[in-house]
Amino acid sequence: MRFEFATATRIVFGPGVLAEIGEIVAGLGSRALLVTGRTPERAEAARERLGAAGVASTAFSVMGEPTVGDVRRGADVARSEGADVVVACGGGSAIDAGKAIAALFGNGGDPLAYLEVVGRGQPLTKPSLPFIAIPTTAGTGSEVTRNAVLASTEHRVKVSLRSPLMLPRAALVDPDLLRGLPPHVVAASGLDAFAQLVEPFLSVRANPLVDALCREGLVRSARSLRRAFEGDSSEAVRVDLALASLFGGLALANAGLGAVHGFAAPVGGMFDAPHGAACAALLPAVLRVNLEALSQRRRESPALARYREIAAIVTGRPGADAEDAVVWTESLVRALAIPGLSRWGATEADIGPLVAKARAASSMKGNPIELEEGELAEIARASL
Ligand SMILES: [Zn+2]
Repeated sequence: MRFEFATATRIVFGPGVLAEIGEIVAGLGSRALLVTGRTPERAEAARERLGAAGVASTAFSVMGEPTVGDVRRGADVARSEGADVVVACGGGSAIDAGKAIAALFGNGGDPLAYLEVVGRGQPLTKPSLPFIAIPTTAGTGSEVTRNAVLASTEHRVKVSLRSPLMLPRAALVDPDLLRGLPPHVVAASGLDAFAQLVEPFLSVRANPLVDALCREGLVRSARSLRRAFEGDSSEAVRVDLALASLFGGLALANAGLGAVHGFAAPVGGMFDAPHGAACAALLPAVLRVNLEALSQRRRESPALARYREIAAIVTGRPGADAEDAVVWTESLVRALAIPGLSRWGATEADIGPLVAKARAASSMKGNPIELEEGELAEIARASL
């Protein structure tokens, strides 16, 4: 056994910890680029706290999942404003944008120099500008990961900018910021977090440190996600969702993912589907097809015992079967009103290209079994 665990330098968690942002950032810089999503008001409290701590800030918004162009523009703004620290306050899109801007600012040049597939794929060699992430949704866990997913609009794909140098200097996770999220955002982001706990737990790169995080995260997600969707915004529920998301980020960054995320990458590139919604739509079919493939071809795989463990955690029944994990997840995805991929424009005709691209996606390498062409097509078809 060999494993490694790397994460943000500092993780500060708890209701109300946003109040500490001024102090944390003031130790790292005096002029912040404040990256937000399409509702910059959600970052207003952070901006005020920064000001009170003597940190000037310039706002920069991204309107959706970040593009190569957004990152190029953000780094230009950071340079012209003389920023010496980047703070992102928002959902996964804002955090990925901020993370990539901080990396690009530190390394210079154009984003395409460092991107694989669509660019020249040079490694990042210099430290990022200090980067602080403050999530306002509970889904991606991007506050503790070393990659940023960027869309290349001209190539219709999403690619990762990835380097240990991109790990945030601080992640400030405040469950109070989850108040007032619309139910469809709770559903999609919460199921992304759930998938990010299930996939690393079943991954061929699973390790004991990540396993512990996945088990605890699954308990919290299973007991609170449906309640949050139904309108329970109690502190206990928000803490559960925020921890599930954080633990999912820690897990995926250190144990990899699987076919849900292998498909989510091309789905996000080919259609205007938000990442969480794509993962949520794919999760039931991936769990079912993986279980069938493992039962037929890899009966000795440790992933089968893990399916039973997931089933026991989510149903609360110690003797639950592997199949119960699939049935429980299907029922949750239905209860959370997740639309199929056809909602985002995918049709039968897209199955071939989706399968070809998913096969090559880096996340696919963590899947507990290598799926055959027909099995991958079955996942795509069942997720329409
Ligand atoms: Zn995800």
